Amino acid sequence: MNDVMGHEHRDLLICGGGVIGLSIAYQCAKLGWKVSLLDRGRFGQGASWSGAGILPAGATIEALDPLEQLRSLSHRLHRQWAAELLALTGIDNEYRETGGLYLGRTPAERATLIANEMWWEEHGIAFERWSFSHAQSRLPSLTDRLPLENASDFWWVPSDCRVRNPYHIAALVEANRRLGVELIEDREIISIAVNSDKQPQWRPGVVDLHGQTYSADRLCIASGAWSRQLLGQLGVETGIMPVRGQMVLYKLDAPWFSFVINEGHRYMVPRDDGHLLVGSCEEEVGFDASTTESMIEELKEWACSVVPDLRHAVVKKSWAGLRPGSFDSYPYLGPVPGREGVYVASGHFRHGLHWSTGTAVLMQQLMAGEKTEMDLEPFRVLRGHNSK
Ligand SMILES: Cc1cc2nc3c(=O)[nH]c(=O)nc-3n(C[C@H](O)[C@H](O)[C@H](O)COP(=O)(O)OP(=O)(O)OC[C@H]3O[C@@H](n4cnc5c(N)ncnc54)[C@H](O)[C@@H]3O)c2cc1C
Repeated sequence: MNDVMGHEHRDLLICGGGVIGLSIAYQCAKLGWKVSLLDRGRFGQGASWSGAGILPAGATIEALDPLEQLRSLSHRLHRQWAAELLALTGIDNEYRETGGLYLGRTPAERATLIANEMWWEEHGIAFERWSFSHAQSRLPSLTDRLPLENASDFWWVPSDCRVRNPYHIAALVEANRRLGVELIEDREIISIAVNSDKQPQWRPGVVDLHGQTYSADRLCIASGAWSRQLLGQLGVETGIMPVRGQMVLYKLDAPWFSFVINEGHRYMVPRDDGHLLVGSCEEEVGFDASTTESMIEELKEWACSVVPDLRHAVVKKSWAGLRPGSFDSYPYLGPVPGREGVYVASGHFRHGLHWSTGTAVLMQQLMAGEKTEMDLEPFRVLRGHNSK
């Protein structure tokens, strides 16, 4: 059956070209699938562009928690994907194994990090606890820029990494183009085609704003924070919701340090060319992706309390993005029950950049009918709610 785009056959149609959709397309196209990827805007301009690109260390030994299994699988794959993408596209996504520094400036922060030591140990993740003078000797860039005598303890996690979101997205788009993925931008999907008895040849599909239909053997909904609306049309209730995060971007003449600095939910992420990202917050304000003066000021205040020289640095930009949160912090990865060939990969909240590689591998295995590398039952689509 041909649809309006004139394609005889698609193995997979993906709705949503954020990092999740782009990664699934890439993984499937590498294995020879015929894939089409649709987005209502430009690829990667949703949450995926606005994120920080922190890749916190993953378990090196078998983890019991499904989220830790997903993190661990994804963490290992990022190194491999960065090399593959560079070889295929010539684009360096700035995946860097720089390590991460965690500050304990208050008793509460120190207590959390001391508790975290057990978690790192449990998962085979190396870490070190440093005094200020030891931190200065280990990270000379600290001496000038982070006069943090009030932080009595520092924790250093060498296998924390970072990636530069816009570069990673550009590499994925280009890799997909080279692998023959049909890339369709500026098409808003307004409905999912539903089977009826009159359509014996039915394949899952979607309809865009202009009434055009697109169909394939399999349909994967990867529309980030907006997935809930599309899935709702199928009578599938998910707990996916937008959670706003705000970000400030500084531009320095050169990087002042190479590693990620974390304090509670706040962080600083350097880029190789001297850009420095400062984030973030969690705000439940619906689909409002605007910044607020008060939060931007709060982020700058925090950044200057850690690196006082930032008071004289140039703020280049600030923005907000909508993370696809879920009611239990687990992403939804799986088939839509009762809708043959329809799948969901969404709800990755604060970790979508990180977990995108593992998600792509698992979704490809699932959609191919293969045994998945890990059990996806905890990520099933109808958990917590019943289908109507
Ligand atoms: C401030 C901030 C900081 C973050 N930091 C990190 C971090 O350090 N590390 C990390 O791993 N993660 C981080 N994240 C989270 C991460 O960015 C997200 O989890 C991830 O980008 C989600 O990817 P996605 O593809 O599911 O969603 P999105 O990137 O939002 O993509 C969804 C796409 O679907 C499209 N779409 C929606 N509806 C339709 C429709 N009806 N028709 C067609 N297309 C549609 C949208 O246009 C969009 O392009 C951060 C997020 C924010 C906001």
